Amino acid sequence: MDAIPVNVRQEGADLAIDWQDGTTSTYKVYDLRCACPCASCRDEVTGERLLNPANVPKDIAPRRIQSVGNYALKIEWSDGHDTGIYAYDRLWTLGANGAGAANGTSA
Ligand SMILES: [Zn+2]
Repeated sequence: MDAIPVNVRQEGADLAIDWQDGTTSTYKVYDLRCACPCASCRDEVTGERLLNPANVPKDIAPRRIQSVGNYALKIEWSDGHDTGIYAYDRLWTLGANGAGAANGTSA
């Protein structure tokens, strides 16, 4: 499906994304940082996580969120990490599988 975010907002330790289809996914900001898909956080071939979550500050926060090429969000984090490009479909999947599920719909 075409998962397009229409609104992204931070709510305390959560980041909420409103999708074009009217649903909302909620993510723990910390979990989202740990799920960073960039080459220094995750092995591009095996998908193995290279980032040590213990090195991520518990009070991590997004400093800046930009959309990239209509397919992804680039998140600049308060720990200075800014190479993470989160594709919409990946965010969608994370939201669907994650602890979030605050959208009131039962899959
Ligand atoms: Zn990264």
